[in-house]
Amino acid sequence: MGAAYMKNLIDNAWVDSHSGTTFENRNPARWNDCIGAFPASNVIDVDNAVRAARTAYSTWRLIPAPKRGEILRRAGDLLTQRKDDIARAMTREMGKPLFETRGDVQEAIDTAYYAASETRRLFGLNAPSELPDKMNLSFRVPIGVCGVITAWNFPLAVPSWKIFPALAAGNTVVFKTPTDAPHSPCLFAQCLIEAGLPPGVLNIIHGFGEECGGALVAHPGVDLIAFTGSTEVGKAISASASKTLKRVSLELGGKNAMIVMDDADQDLALEGVLWGAFGTTGQRCTATSRLIVHGTIHDAFIAKLCERARTLRLGDGMSPNTEVGPVINEKQLHSIARYVQIGKDEGAQCVLGGTPETSEEYKNGWFYKPTIFTGVLPVMRIAQEEIFGPVLSVIRASSLTQAIEILNGTMYGLSAAIYTRNVNAAMRAIRDIESGIVYINGPTIGAEAHMPFGGVKQTGNGHREGGWTAFDIFTEWKTVYIDYSGNLQKAQIDADRH
Ligand code: NAD
Repeated sequence: MGAAYMKNLIDNAWVDSHSGTTFENRNPARWNDCIGAFPASNVIDVDNAVRAARTAYSTWRLIPAPKRGEILRRAGDLLTQRKDDIARAMTREMGKPLFETRGDVQEAIDTAYYAASETRRLFGLNAPSELPDKMNLSFRVPIGVCGVITAWNFPLAVPSWKIFPALAAGNTVVFKTPTDAPHSPCLFAQCLIEAGLPPGVLNIIHGFGEECGGALVAHPGVDLIAFTGSTEVGKAISASASKTLKRVSLELGGKNAMIVMDDADQDLALEGVLWGAFGTTGQRCTATSRLIVHGTIHDAFIAKLCERARTLRLGDGMSPNTEVGPVINEKQLHSIARYVQIGKDEGAQCVLGGTPETSEEYKNGWFYKPTIFTGVLPVMRIAQEEIFGPVLSVIRASSLTQAIEILNGTMYGLSAAIYTRNVNAAMRAIRDIESGIVYINGPTIGAEAHMPFGGVKQTGNGHREGGWTAFDIFTEWKTVYIDYSGNLQKAQIDADRH
């Protein structure tokens, strides 16, 4: 399975790009390991994919939703059978340890089954009419051709949150894969084809952001763009899509914080911050990148944290011993190094890490040591900007009120966590934290497939993927009035005037 499926998928055929140009996909843990050459698609390939999706839409939307659900369920079965192979392909192309990539595939499996089950619900609503012998109802209809563009850090889970509900609801899809992780999405698509998805219902195009993704966003034949990525690119997509008034769903960056109060179970909080900050090498939109610690426990807690973080095992994600994999590419390694320098220049203390790992074992990959800054002030850039790497900024707070104020003091609002044993403090945090997701006594990462996922402020534009709320993105409401009176009845007319 490994070497196959490295082309565009249009009308259920694996095809090269029109221009024949390609780009290489390489293993971030061993840069000399080239996984393959993928089509660098341009506007012509995008147009071909959109046309296929448009044609397929006319028949796919008419297939009864539970029948569409059967295909998704079979795709879930195939993903389950191939979970290990797909996880290996994913680790090889983007570096997460195998236990994490298996989790990524599992999220797609759960979403397949969840979306399949929703095809027997997709409830509409009815309400009494203001007139006699008349029925009012409103139900969900698909939107049309959906363009899906995602980041590389969750090659299956995140696309599945968009693609499965979109298909379940009767839409067709053109998916522009992440440039740094194009292979595992092809293995995902192959499962859908084998599950019985008709030609053109899901199309895949590979390529670069502006050239390929930009063409998809601008295409007049695309009705909706569902995007996951950086806030910067999200804003550009929103501006471009507004020219054709497409619906746009944006899942963007984060600067997530965990508060540890003086009454917290400190051992539990310690495990939480290690996983939240250094899991996926800090390259999650929900990563814990700020730690806000109550002043009375600050020094002892940070000492324990550094002691534990120092022992995290860096390595190739294929090795069962690896706890922290590589960062995605050289550019990202330099970006992390730049932020570490900014933190030092701003006056924060780098108490752990702060350099790439370049010893013999690591020299062929992009590895950065888990890094902790203390003495961070809320206004510093390392407390405000998304670093997307294994860098944790620790901020001291003297009260719950101050901790929440610091937590809320960024332009992002995706995920947040608080560790406390005080139920009143937990309840205030739930009420006052400005984020789409709040964890009590758990880290900032760990979303479940059937619950709404997304953020406030500049983390998004108000939509929620995951669970039932995903169907609010991928459907619109059609309202129907059925008049069985046999008379012309005029609504909104003042009865007294007749
Ligand atoms: P990115 O914004 O650089 O790229 C995301 C995708 O957009 C890629 O497929 C890329 O090729 C494409 N793209 C880039 N420029 C484009 C353009 N002009 N038009 C259309 N498409 C374009 O992000 P990344 O570096 O791949 O991923 C990291 C970012 O993603 C972080 O900010 C992270 O927080 C965010 N992210 C958010 C979530 C979420 O659910 N909120 C989940 C995962 C990642």
